[in-house]
Amino acid sequence: MPRPSLDDARTKIVATVGPACESVHQLEELIEAGVDVFRINTAHGNREQHEIIVRRIREAATIAGFPVGILLDLAGPKIRLGQLHHDPLICEEGMKLTFVTETTDQPREVTSTYERLIGELQPGDRVMLADGTVSLRVEQVQADRAECVVTVGGSVRSRQGINLPGVQLSVPALLERDVDNAIWAARNEIDFISLSFVRSPDDVRQLKGLLHSHGSNALVIAKIEKPEALEHLEDIVENADGIMVARGDLGVEIDVAKTPVAQKRIIRVCREKMKPVIVATQMLESMHTSTRPTRAEASDVANAILDGADACMLSGETAIGDHPALAVTMMSRIMKCTEQEMMRGPNRNHQISYRVHPITSAVTQAATHVAETIEAKLIVIATRSGNTAWVNSQSRSLIPTVGASESQATLRRMNLLWGIKPLASEHLEDTSRFIDQMCRWGHEHTDLRQNDHIVFVTGTGVVDKAHNLMVVHTVE
Ligand code: ATP
Ligand code: MG
Repeated sequence: MPRPSLDDARTKIVATVGPACESVHQLEELIEAGVDVFRINTAHGNREQHEIIVRRIREAATIAGFPVGILLDLAGPKIRLGQLHHDPLICEEGMKLTFVTETTDQPREVTSTYERLIGELQPGDRVMLADGTVSLRVEQVQADRAECVVTVGGSVRSRQGINLPGVQLSVPALLERDVDNAIWAARNEIDFISLSFVRSPDDVRQLKGLLHSHGSNALVIAKIEKPEALEHLEDIVENADGIMVARGDLGVEIDVAKTPVAQKRIIRVCREKMKPVIVATQMLESMHTSTRPTRAEASDVANAILDGADACMLSGETAIGDHPALAVTMMSRIMKCTEQEMMRGPNRNHQISYRVHPITSAVTQAATHVAETIEAKLIVIATRSGNTAWVNSQSRSLIPTVGASESQATLRRMNLLWGIKPLASEHLEDTSRFIDQMCRWGHEHTDLRQNDHIVFVTGTGVVDKAHNLMVVHTVE
């Protein structure tokens, strides 16, 4: 089915481009499988390759007839391994690995992208490689080499990340290479630019300023992966156009046990400030080689959506995995199943209740939404049978809500309805007298003041048996 289609997941899919998916045909296949934004990681490949990829993405988008977005990920002050002698390098526990300044032909000598690394290391320091999968301990430091021993083994590849948990490095937010890449992105009309290792809102402002000065209005996505970023989270979200929960480095920089709650907090702040948020890293990790995800991975995608994420990201799964299109298709399927269920959830009860006319159901739910948006002091539901109050109660608003009725039986029955305060009224037919009575009640029983709002739901009598009138009354 040509995209966009009604069959697309609502949650968006960001896919990283790499050797496993960089032909026009493969990119087109990924778009058809559900990719909305392609991510190019400037930490890998060179300018010439990035130019080719951008051209191919645009060609694939034209063929697919879908306006796919491009996100350029700036490496920022992330320290990385240099080119390894051989890819991958298998690190076994107890093995010696030495950081040196210049690439050599020794397979166990490695370089880093941070010139001052060796100088800033001390014996005993912990060094983590490849998103923390491999751990080293520094044994000995000399002017031009730092000898380490592998304490947790695994395999590493060229240009994978190096983390020094707890060590504060003196690197600027935008290195020369990032500035250069940002200017290139501005000239090439890249849609989104993400910045790694953001530590303060200033880092974001700096990048935005740079982009504006080059005529770009690309959206700036701040990657949250440092403890400092969590400390300044509100301000960073305020300043950025969007956020990425970059769990790879976050899970090394902070205790991995704390990453699930950090993810939830980041998403909550983004929702409050109405900024889109991407959840990234290891979402379908086992699909690097497997054709199916683990149960835990399927749940991870689903839970990110339930947390409120706008998008989920695939990294190595599409960049270097064996099954890039399958990973996208699987992610999209998990999303669609989750979205269907989420709409039925207790917090988003938009179903039409058989108890009331469908118009009544829609209007009372909208009334709650309006009341919460304008911070109304009171919601008043005129209800003969109690059914309208019943439906309103399902929207679980903390705003005081009155169910007004002329029937004593109805008033009594409303006592079981969450949040509804039963109140007798003789004036349901006469809107202005009804409003007067409720205002008087509000003055007597709540801290209702001048200029406060009350949201009323009543009927006009125009639609038989349906409450179709919502009035926002401002107290005089
Ligand atoms: P980051 O920390 O910025 O997310 P990363 O090193 O974890 O970066 P990803 O972009 O998440 O890398 O991609 C996952 C893996 O895919 C990388 O480790 C790298 O080996 C590979 N990869 C990504 N892009 C490319 C590319 N353009 N060329 C070669 N390999 C790539
Ligand atoms: Mg990563």
